[in-house]
Amino acid sequence: MNNLTAKFMNLVKFFEGKGSKQYFLGGIAIAVLILFACTFSMTTSYSVVIDGKNMGQISSASALNQALNASKAKAQQETGMTITASYNTVEAKATHGFFSDKLSNEELNSLIDENVEWLAPGAMLNVNNGEIQLALASEADAQKVLDKLKENATANAGNAVVKSVDFLQDVAIEPGNVKASEIASPEKVLEKIAAGKEAVQTHKVAEGESFWTIAHNNDLSVSELQNLNPNIVPEKLQIGQEISLTKLEPLVSVVVTKEVTVEEAIAHATEYKENNSLLKGETKVITKGADGKKQVTYEVKEANGATIEKVALNEVVISQPVTEVVSKGTASIKISSRAANSSGVLSWPKSGKITSPYGTRSRGFHSGIDISAKTGDAVYAAAGGKVVLASWYYAYGNCIVVDHGNGMKTRYAHLSAYNCKVGDQVARGQQIGRAGNTGRSTGPHLHFEVIVNGSTKNPVNYLK
Ligand SMILES: [Zn+2]
Repeated sequence: MNNLTAKFMNLVKFFEGKGSKQYFLGGIAIAVLILFACTFSMTTSYSVVIDGKNMGQISSASALNQALNASKAKAQQETGMTITASYNTVEAKATHGFFSDKLSNEELNSLIDENVEWLAPGAMLNVNNGEIQLALASEADAQKVLDKLKENATANAGNAVVKSVDFLQDVAIEPGNVKASEIASPEKVLEKIAAGKEAVQTHKVAEGESFWTIAHNNDLSVSELQNLNPNIVPEKLQIGQEISLTKLEPLVSVVVTKEVTVEEAIAHATEYKENNSLLKGETKVITKGADGKKQVTYEVKEANGATIEKVALNEVVISQPVTEVVSKGTASIKISSRAANSSGVLSWPKSGKITSPYGTRSRGFHSGIDISAKTGDAVYAAAGGKVVLASWYYAYGNCIVVDHGNGMKTRYAHLSAYNCKVGDQVARGQQIGRAGNTGRSTGPHLHFEVIVNGSTKNPVNYLK
């Protein structure tokens, strides 16, 4: 260094001096000095580049090869697989630069271990074109997974005839290089498939449903459903309220199509016959009804054990049902001033067959029952109460509403005539109007509704 300082001092003297000879000598001194500096501090080094990204400097390319070989041997030992190549592209790029920090061998080894994945020949189980990828050691292992899934799905088919077993998702086995660290045994892959993912489903509460029925219909326990809906109070379900049914769904769903033959009852019909020797509101069974029996063969589609489709393929009637015949009184009218809610029952507003029941039908929800009638037939108050409507009311046509108190009302629609007016106090069984075909009606009949606290109920449950 003393030497260098001396040269530098000389150089300074040259600059201070005068004349071209001195300048020339000064130039040579600078050149020598730069050359000296270069050989001293500027060397060839290598950048470790992984997937195009500079990760650090090393002094020799062979150091990288050594680190790669060590990492590869380690991967080979840990996985027991024959490593074919690295998943990442790794290169040593020569660079010329001034002094820079070089990675130690230890640092280089851990850099490679942490950033380079190794490939081994195996097979990929691709679900939905790679949406989910499961690496296995071989095609045979992957096939084992699929076979086991199908085997499990059909294990408890009982006496059903299994027609086909398919996967709901698009499932394919692709042999090729896979990341050695991701290869799992068929057992582990099956566990992973079963552990699945959360599928969000919701349910809108319909009339008549309870927390219990919703849980039951969705294969959940009440406490499971409560856990999924911590903010919902089971006793305070509202119609139309959304309930979460989020549940785990396996990564691969198995759809089993099978044929099942079961014996089922054929419900019997009930026919009402008017009888004027019986009091109105009284009934008498003439012929006891009996359900029939049939053998039905269904094609049932199940996904993960739950039925997703059920189609009847064939029906064989074993025994026909017997229609129940009931005599229905039409004679004299029992007048009663009891409120409907105190007796809990309503009288029939007129005798006749129910030609359309309460509930869902093809044209939508039917909010009452239709009772067969001829135009002009007498219509009676189902219970004592006050007439609150006796006028044309949209699709109901000529319409009467009787308020029985305590939240209960009855409605009589499509009438041809009124025998009462708004404000009248009427008794149970008192004639209030006449049946007809007014409003949206396809023929003479009595449309009868029971309204409790503002919502319609099935009148059959309130009629005597
Ligand atoms: Zn109707």
